[in-house]
Amino acid sequence: MTDLKTHITKLDGYLARFRDAGILHLIDGQDVASDASFDTHSPTDDSLICTVAKGTRQDIDHAARAAKAAFPAWRDMPAAKRKKILIRIAELIESRSEEIALCECWDTGQAYRFMAKAALRGAANFRFFADRIASARDGQNLPSPTLMNVTTRKPIGPVGIITPWNTPFMLSTWKIAPALAAGCTIVHKPAEFSPLTARILAEIAHEAGLPPGVWNLVNGMGEDAGAALTEHPDIKAIAFVGESKTGSMIMKQGADTLKRFHFELGGKNPVIVFEDADIERALDAAIFMIYSLNGERCTSSSRLLIQDSVADEFIEKLTKRVNNIRVGNPLDPQTEVGPLIHKVHFDKVCSYFDIARQDGATIKAGGKRIGAQGCFVAPTLFTDATPDMRIAQEEIFGPVLTAIRFKDEAEALEIANGTQYGLTGYIWTNDLTRALRFSDQLEAGMIWVNSENVRHLPTPFGGVKASGIGRDGGDWSFDFYMETKHIGFALGDHKIPRLGAE
Ligand code: NAD
Repeated sequence: MTDLKTHITKLDGYLARFRDAGILHLIDGQDVASDASFDTHSPTDDSLICTVAKGTRQDIDHAARAAKAAFPAWRDMPAAKRKKILIRIAELIESRSEEIALCECWDTGQAYRFMAKAALRGAANFRFFADRIASARDGQNLPSPTLMNVTTRKPIGPVGIITPWNTPFMLSTWKIAPALAAGCTIVHKPAEFSPLTARILAEIAHEAGLPPGVWNLVNGMGEDAGAALTEHPDIKAIAFVGESKTGSMIMKQGADTLKRFHFELGGKNPVIVFEDADIERALDAAIFMIYSLNGERCTSSSRLLIQDSVADEFIEKLTKRVNNIRVGNPLDPQTEVGPLIHKVHFDKVCSYFDIARQDGATIKAGGKRIGAQGCFVAPTLFTDATPDMRIAQEEIFGPVLTAIRFKDEAEALEIANGTQYGLTGYIWTNDLTRALRFSDQLEAGMIWVNSENVRHLPTPFGGVKASGIGRDGGDWSFDFYMETKHIGFALGDHKIPRLGAE
């Protein structure tokens, strides 16, 4: 309780400036207001946090022109100097980690126990890519008999970064750090439901010495500011994290200007538990991967595929644990699940309780809202589900798990691959050859065997099917933010065809 009270008092101090001035855009190093604004509310008690500038097509144009003008100098700045700025950004994030964590909790409803580390993970993203700046432009030597062929990489130019509201701080750094390290300038359009920490982050970058115009922040709605960014001719690429259907819209919007896209989209990720698995560890991991971060997590294990022979025991233990999850104020360090981001999303998640009933599934735990205020839902478990039900096919994006039984490996694979998505998969078995066989055939960009999702920054991150296009992480990020150029140097006087010669 003491911690909750302390957090409330501290948060009040951090929010005072937003209450007074609202959240403005940050374009070319300057605060910029828009004619219109919108309100952002906390999903904990529906209270108003502050007003936010509502970006227009003109604001995006202003930001894109600033990013274009700043690009040559940023691209050509010596690697060591750019590295220093990125490291300074990481240091400043670390020094304001508590402010970032508390603002993120209040703005998004994410529990403090997880957000406490989100800022530090954001700082780690900046350090990781800062360390790679010196080698970002490295290429290959591919000699042929007559030519010395070399490749080099160049930053693609100003890029647009469009982020969602789930763990917005960490995800923004995950996109912005490699873009800056590659030598690109950026226009960031954060999600309208979670504008607070994007503003803090952009301020930190300027305090760290980033030149004006390198990082521009424009708030606003997807359909106007977001769409304008994807259509702007000076923006060479769009890195987008969000829903699959938004990705599809963005691809259409960017077609006329031939944008390059990187998409990290939705998921309906299976955790597959075979009878030979370490059941207790599988249980811990399955619960963690769907109920942490309020289930508002692209990599969440939202489908439990459980083998018949162990299903009763597993589901009984699972139900007990799910009913025990602590739902509460996200600022309370004891809280495990906080409120969902927004009333709109809350209504969507709650609609699946009726859908589950109508389709003939059982609501084994939860299936209801908690309290009359805020966007709290009880951690929910659906059982007796079949693979074709909507609760087994659609991304619900809340603390909601759908359990489906299977009899053997072949059936498990068919169910696991039987959705439009393919982001992650979690396999629990102690049979090594089965793990190899199954992971080879599972349609997912990332798979963990006998483990929850443990992120390691040099590894590739991304999905297949409707879950995404492209990979982040390590050098894969640079492949997106840079162009590879080939140059062939003649080694001598090789024969050149002489058309029209006498
Ligand atoms: P969303 O698609 O509704 O919005 C994401 C962003 O896109 C927001 O900033 C929004 O304003 C903007 N946007 C909306 N319409 C646009 C348009 N027409 N043009 C340009 N921009 C537009 O997603 P959300 O609800 O904020 O986030 C949740 C989704 O994100 C889930 O589907 C989740 O799985 C996905 N996600 C995926 C990953 C991943 O790595 N694969 C990571 C996190 C979240």
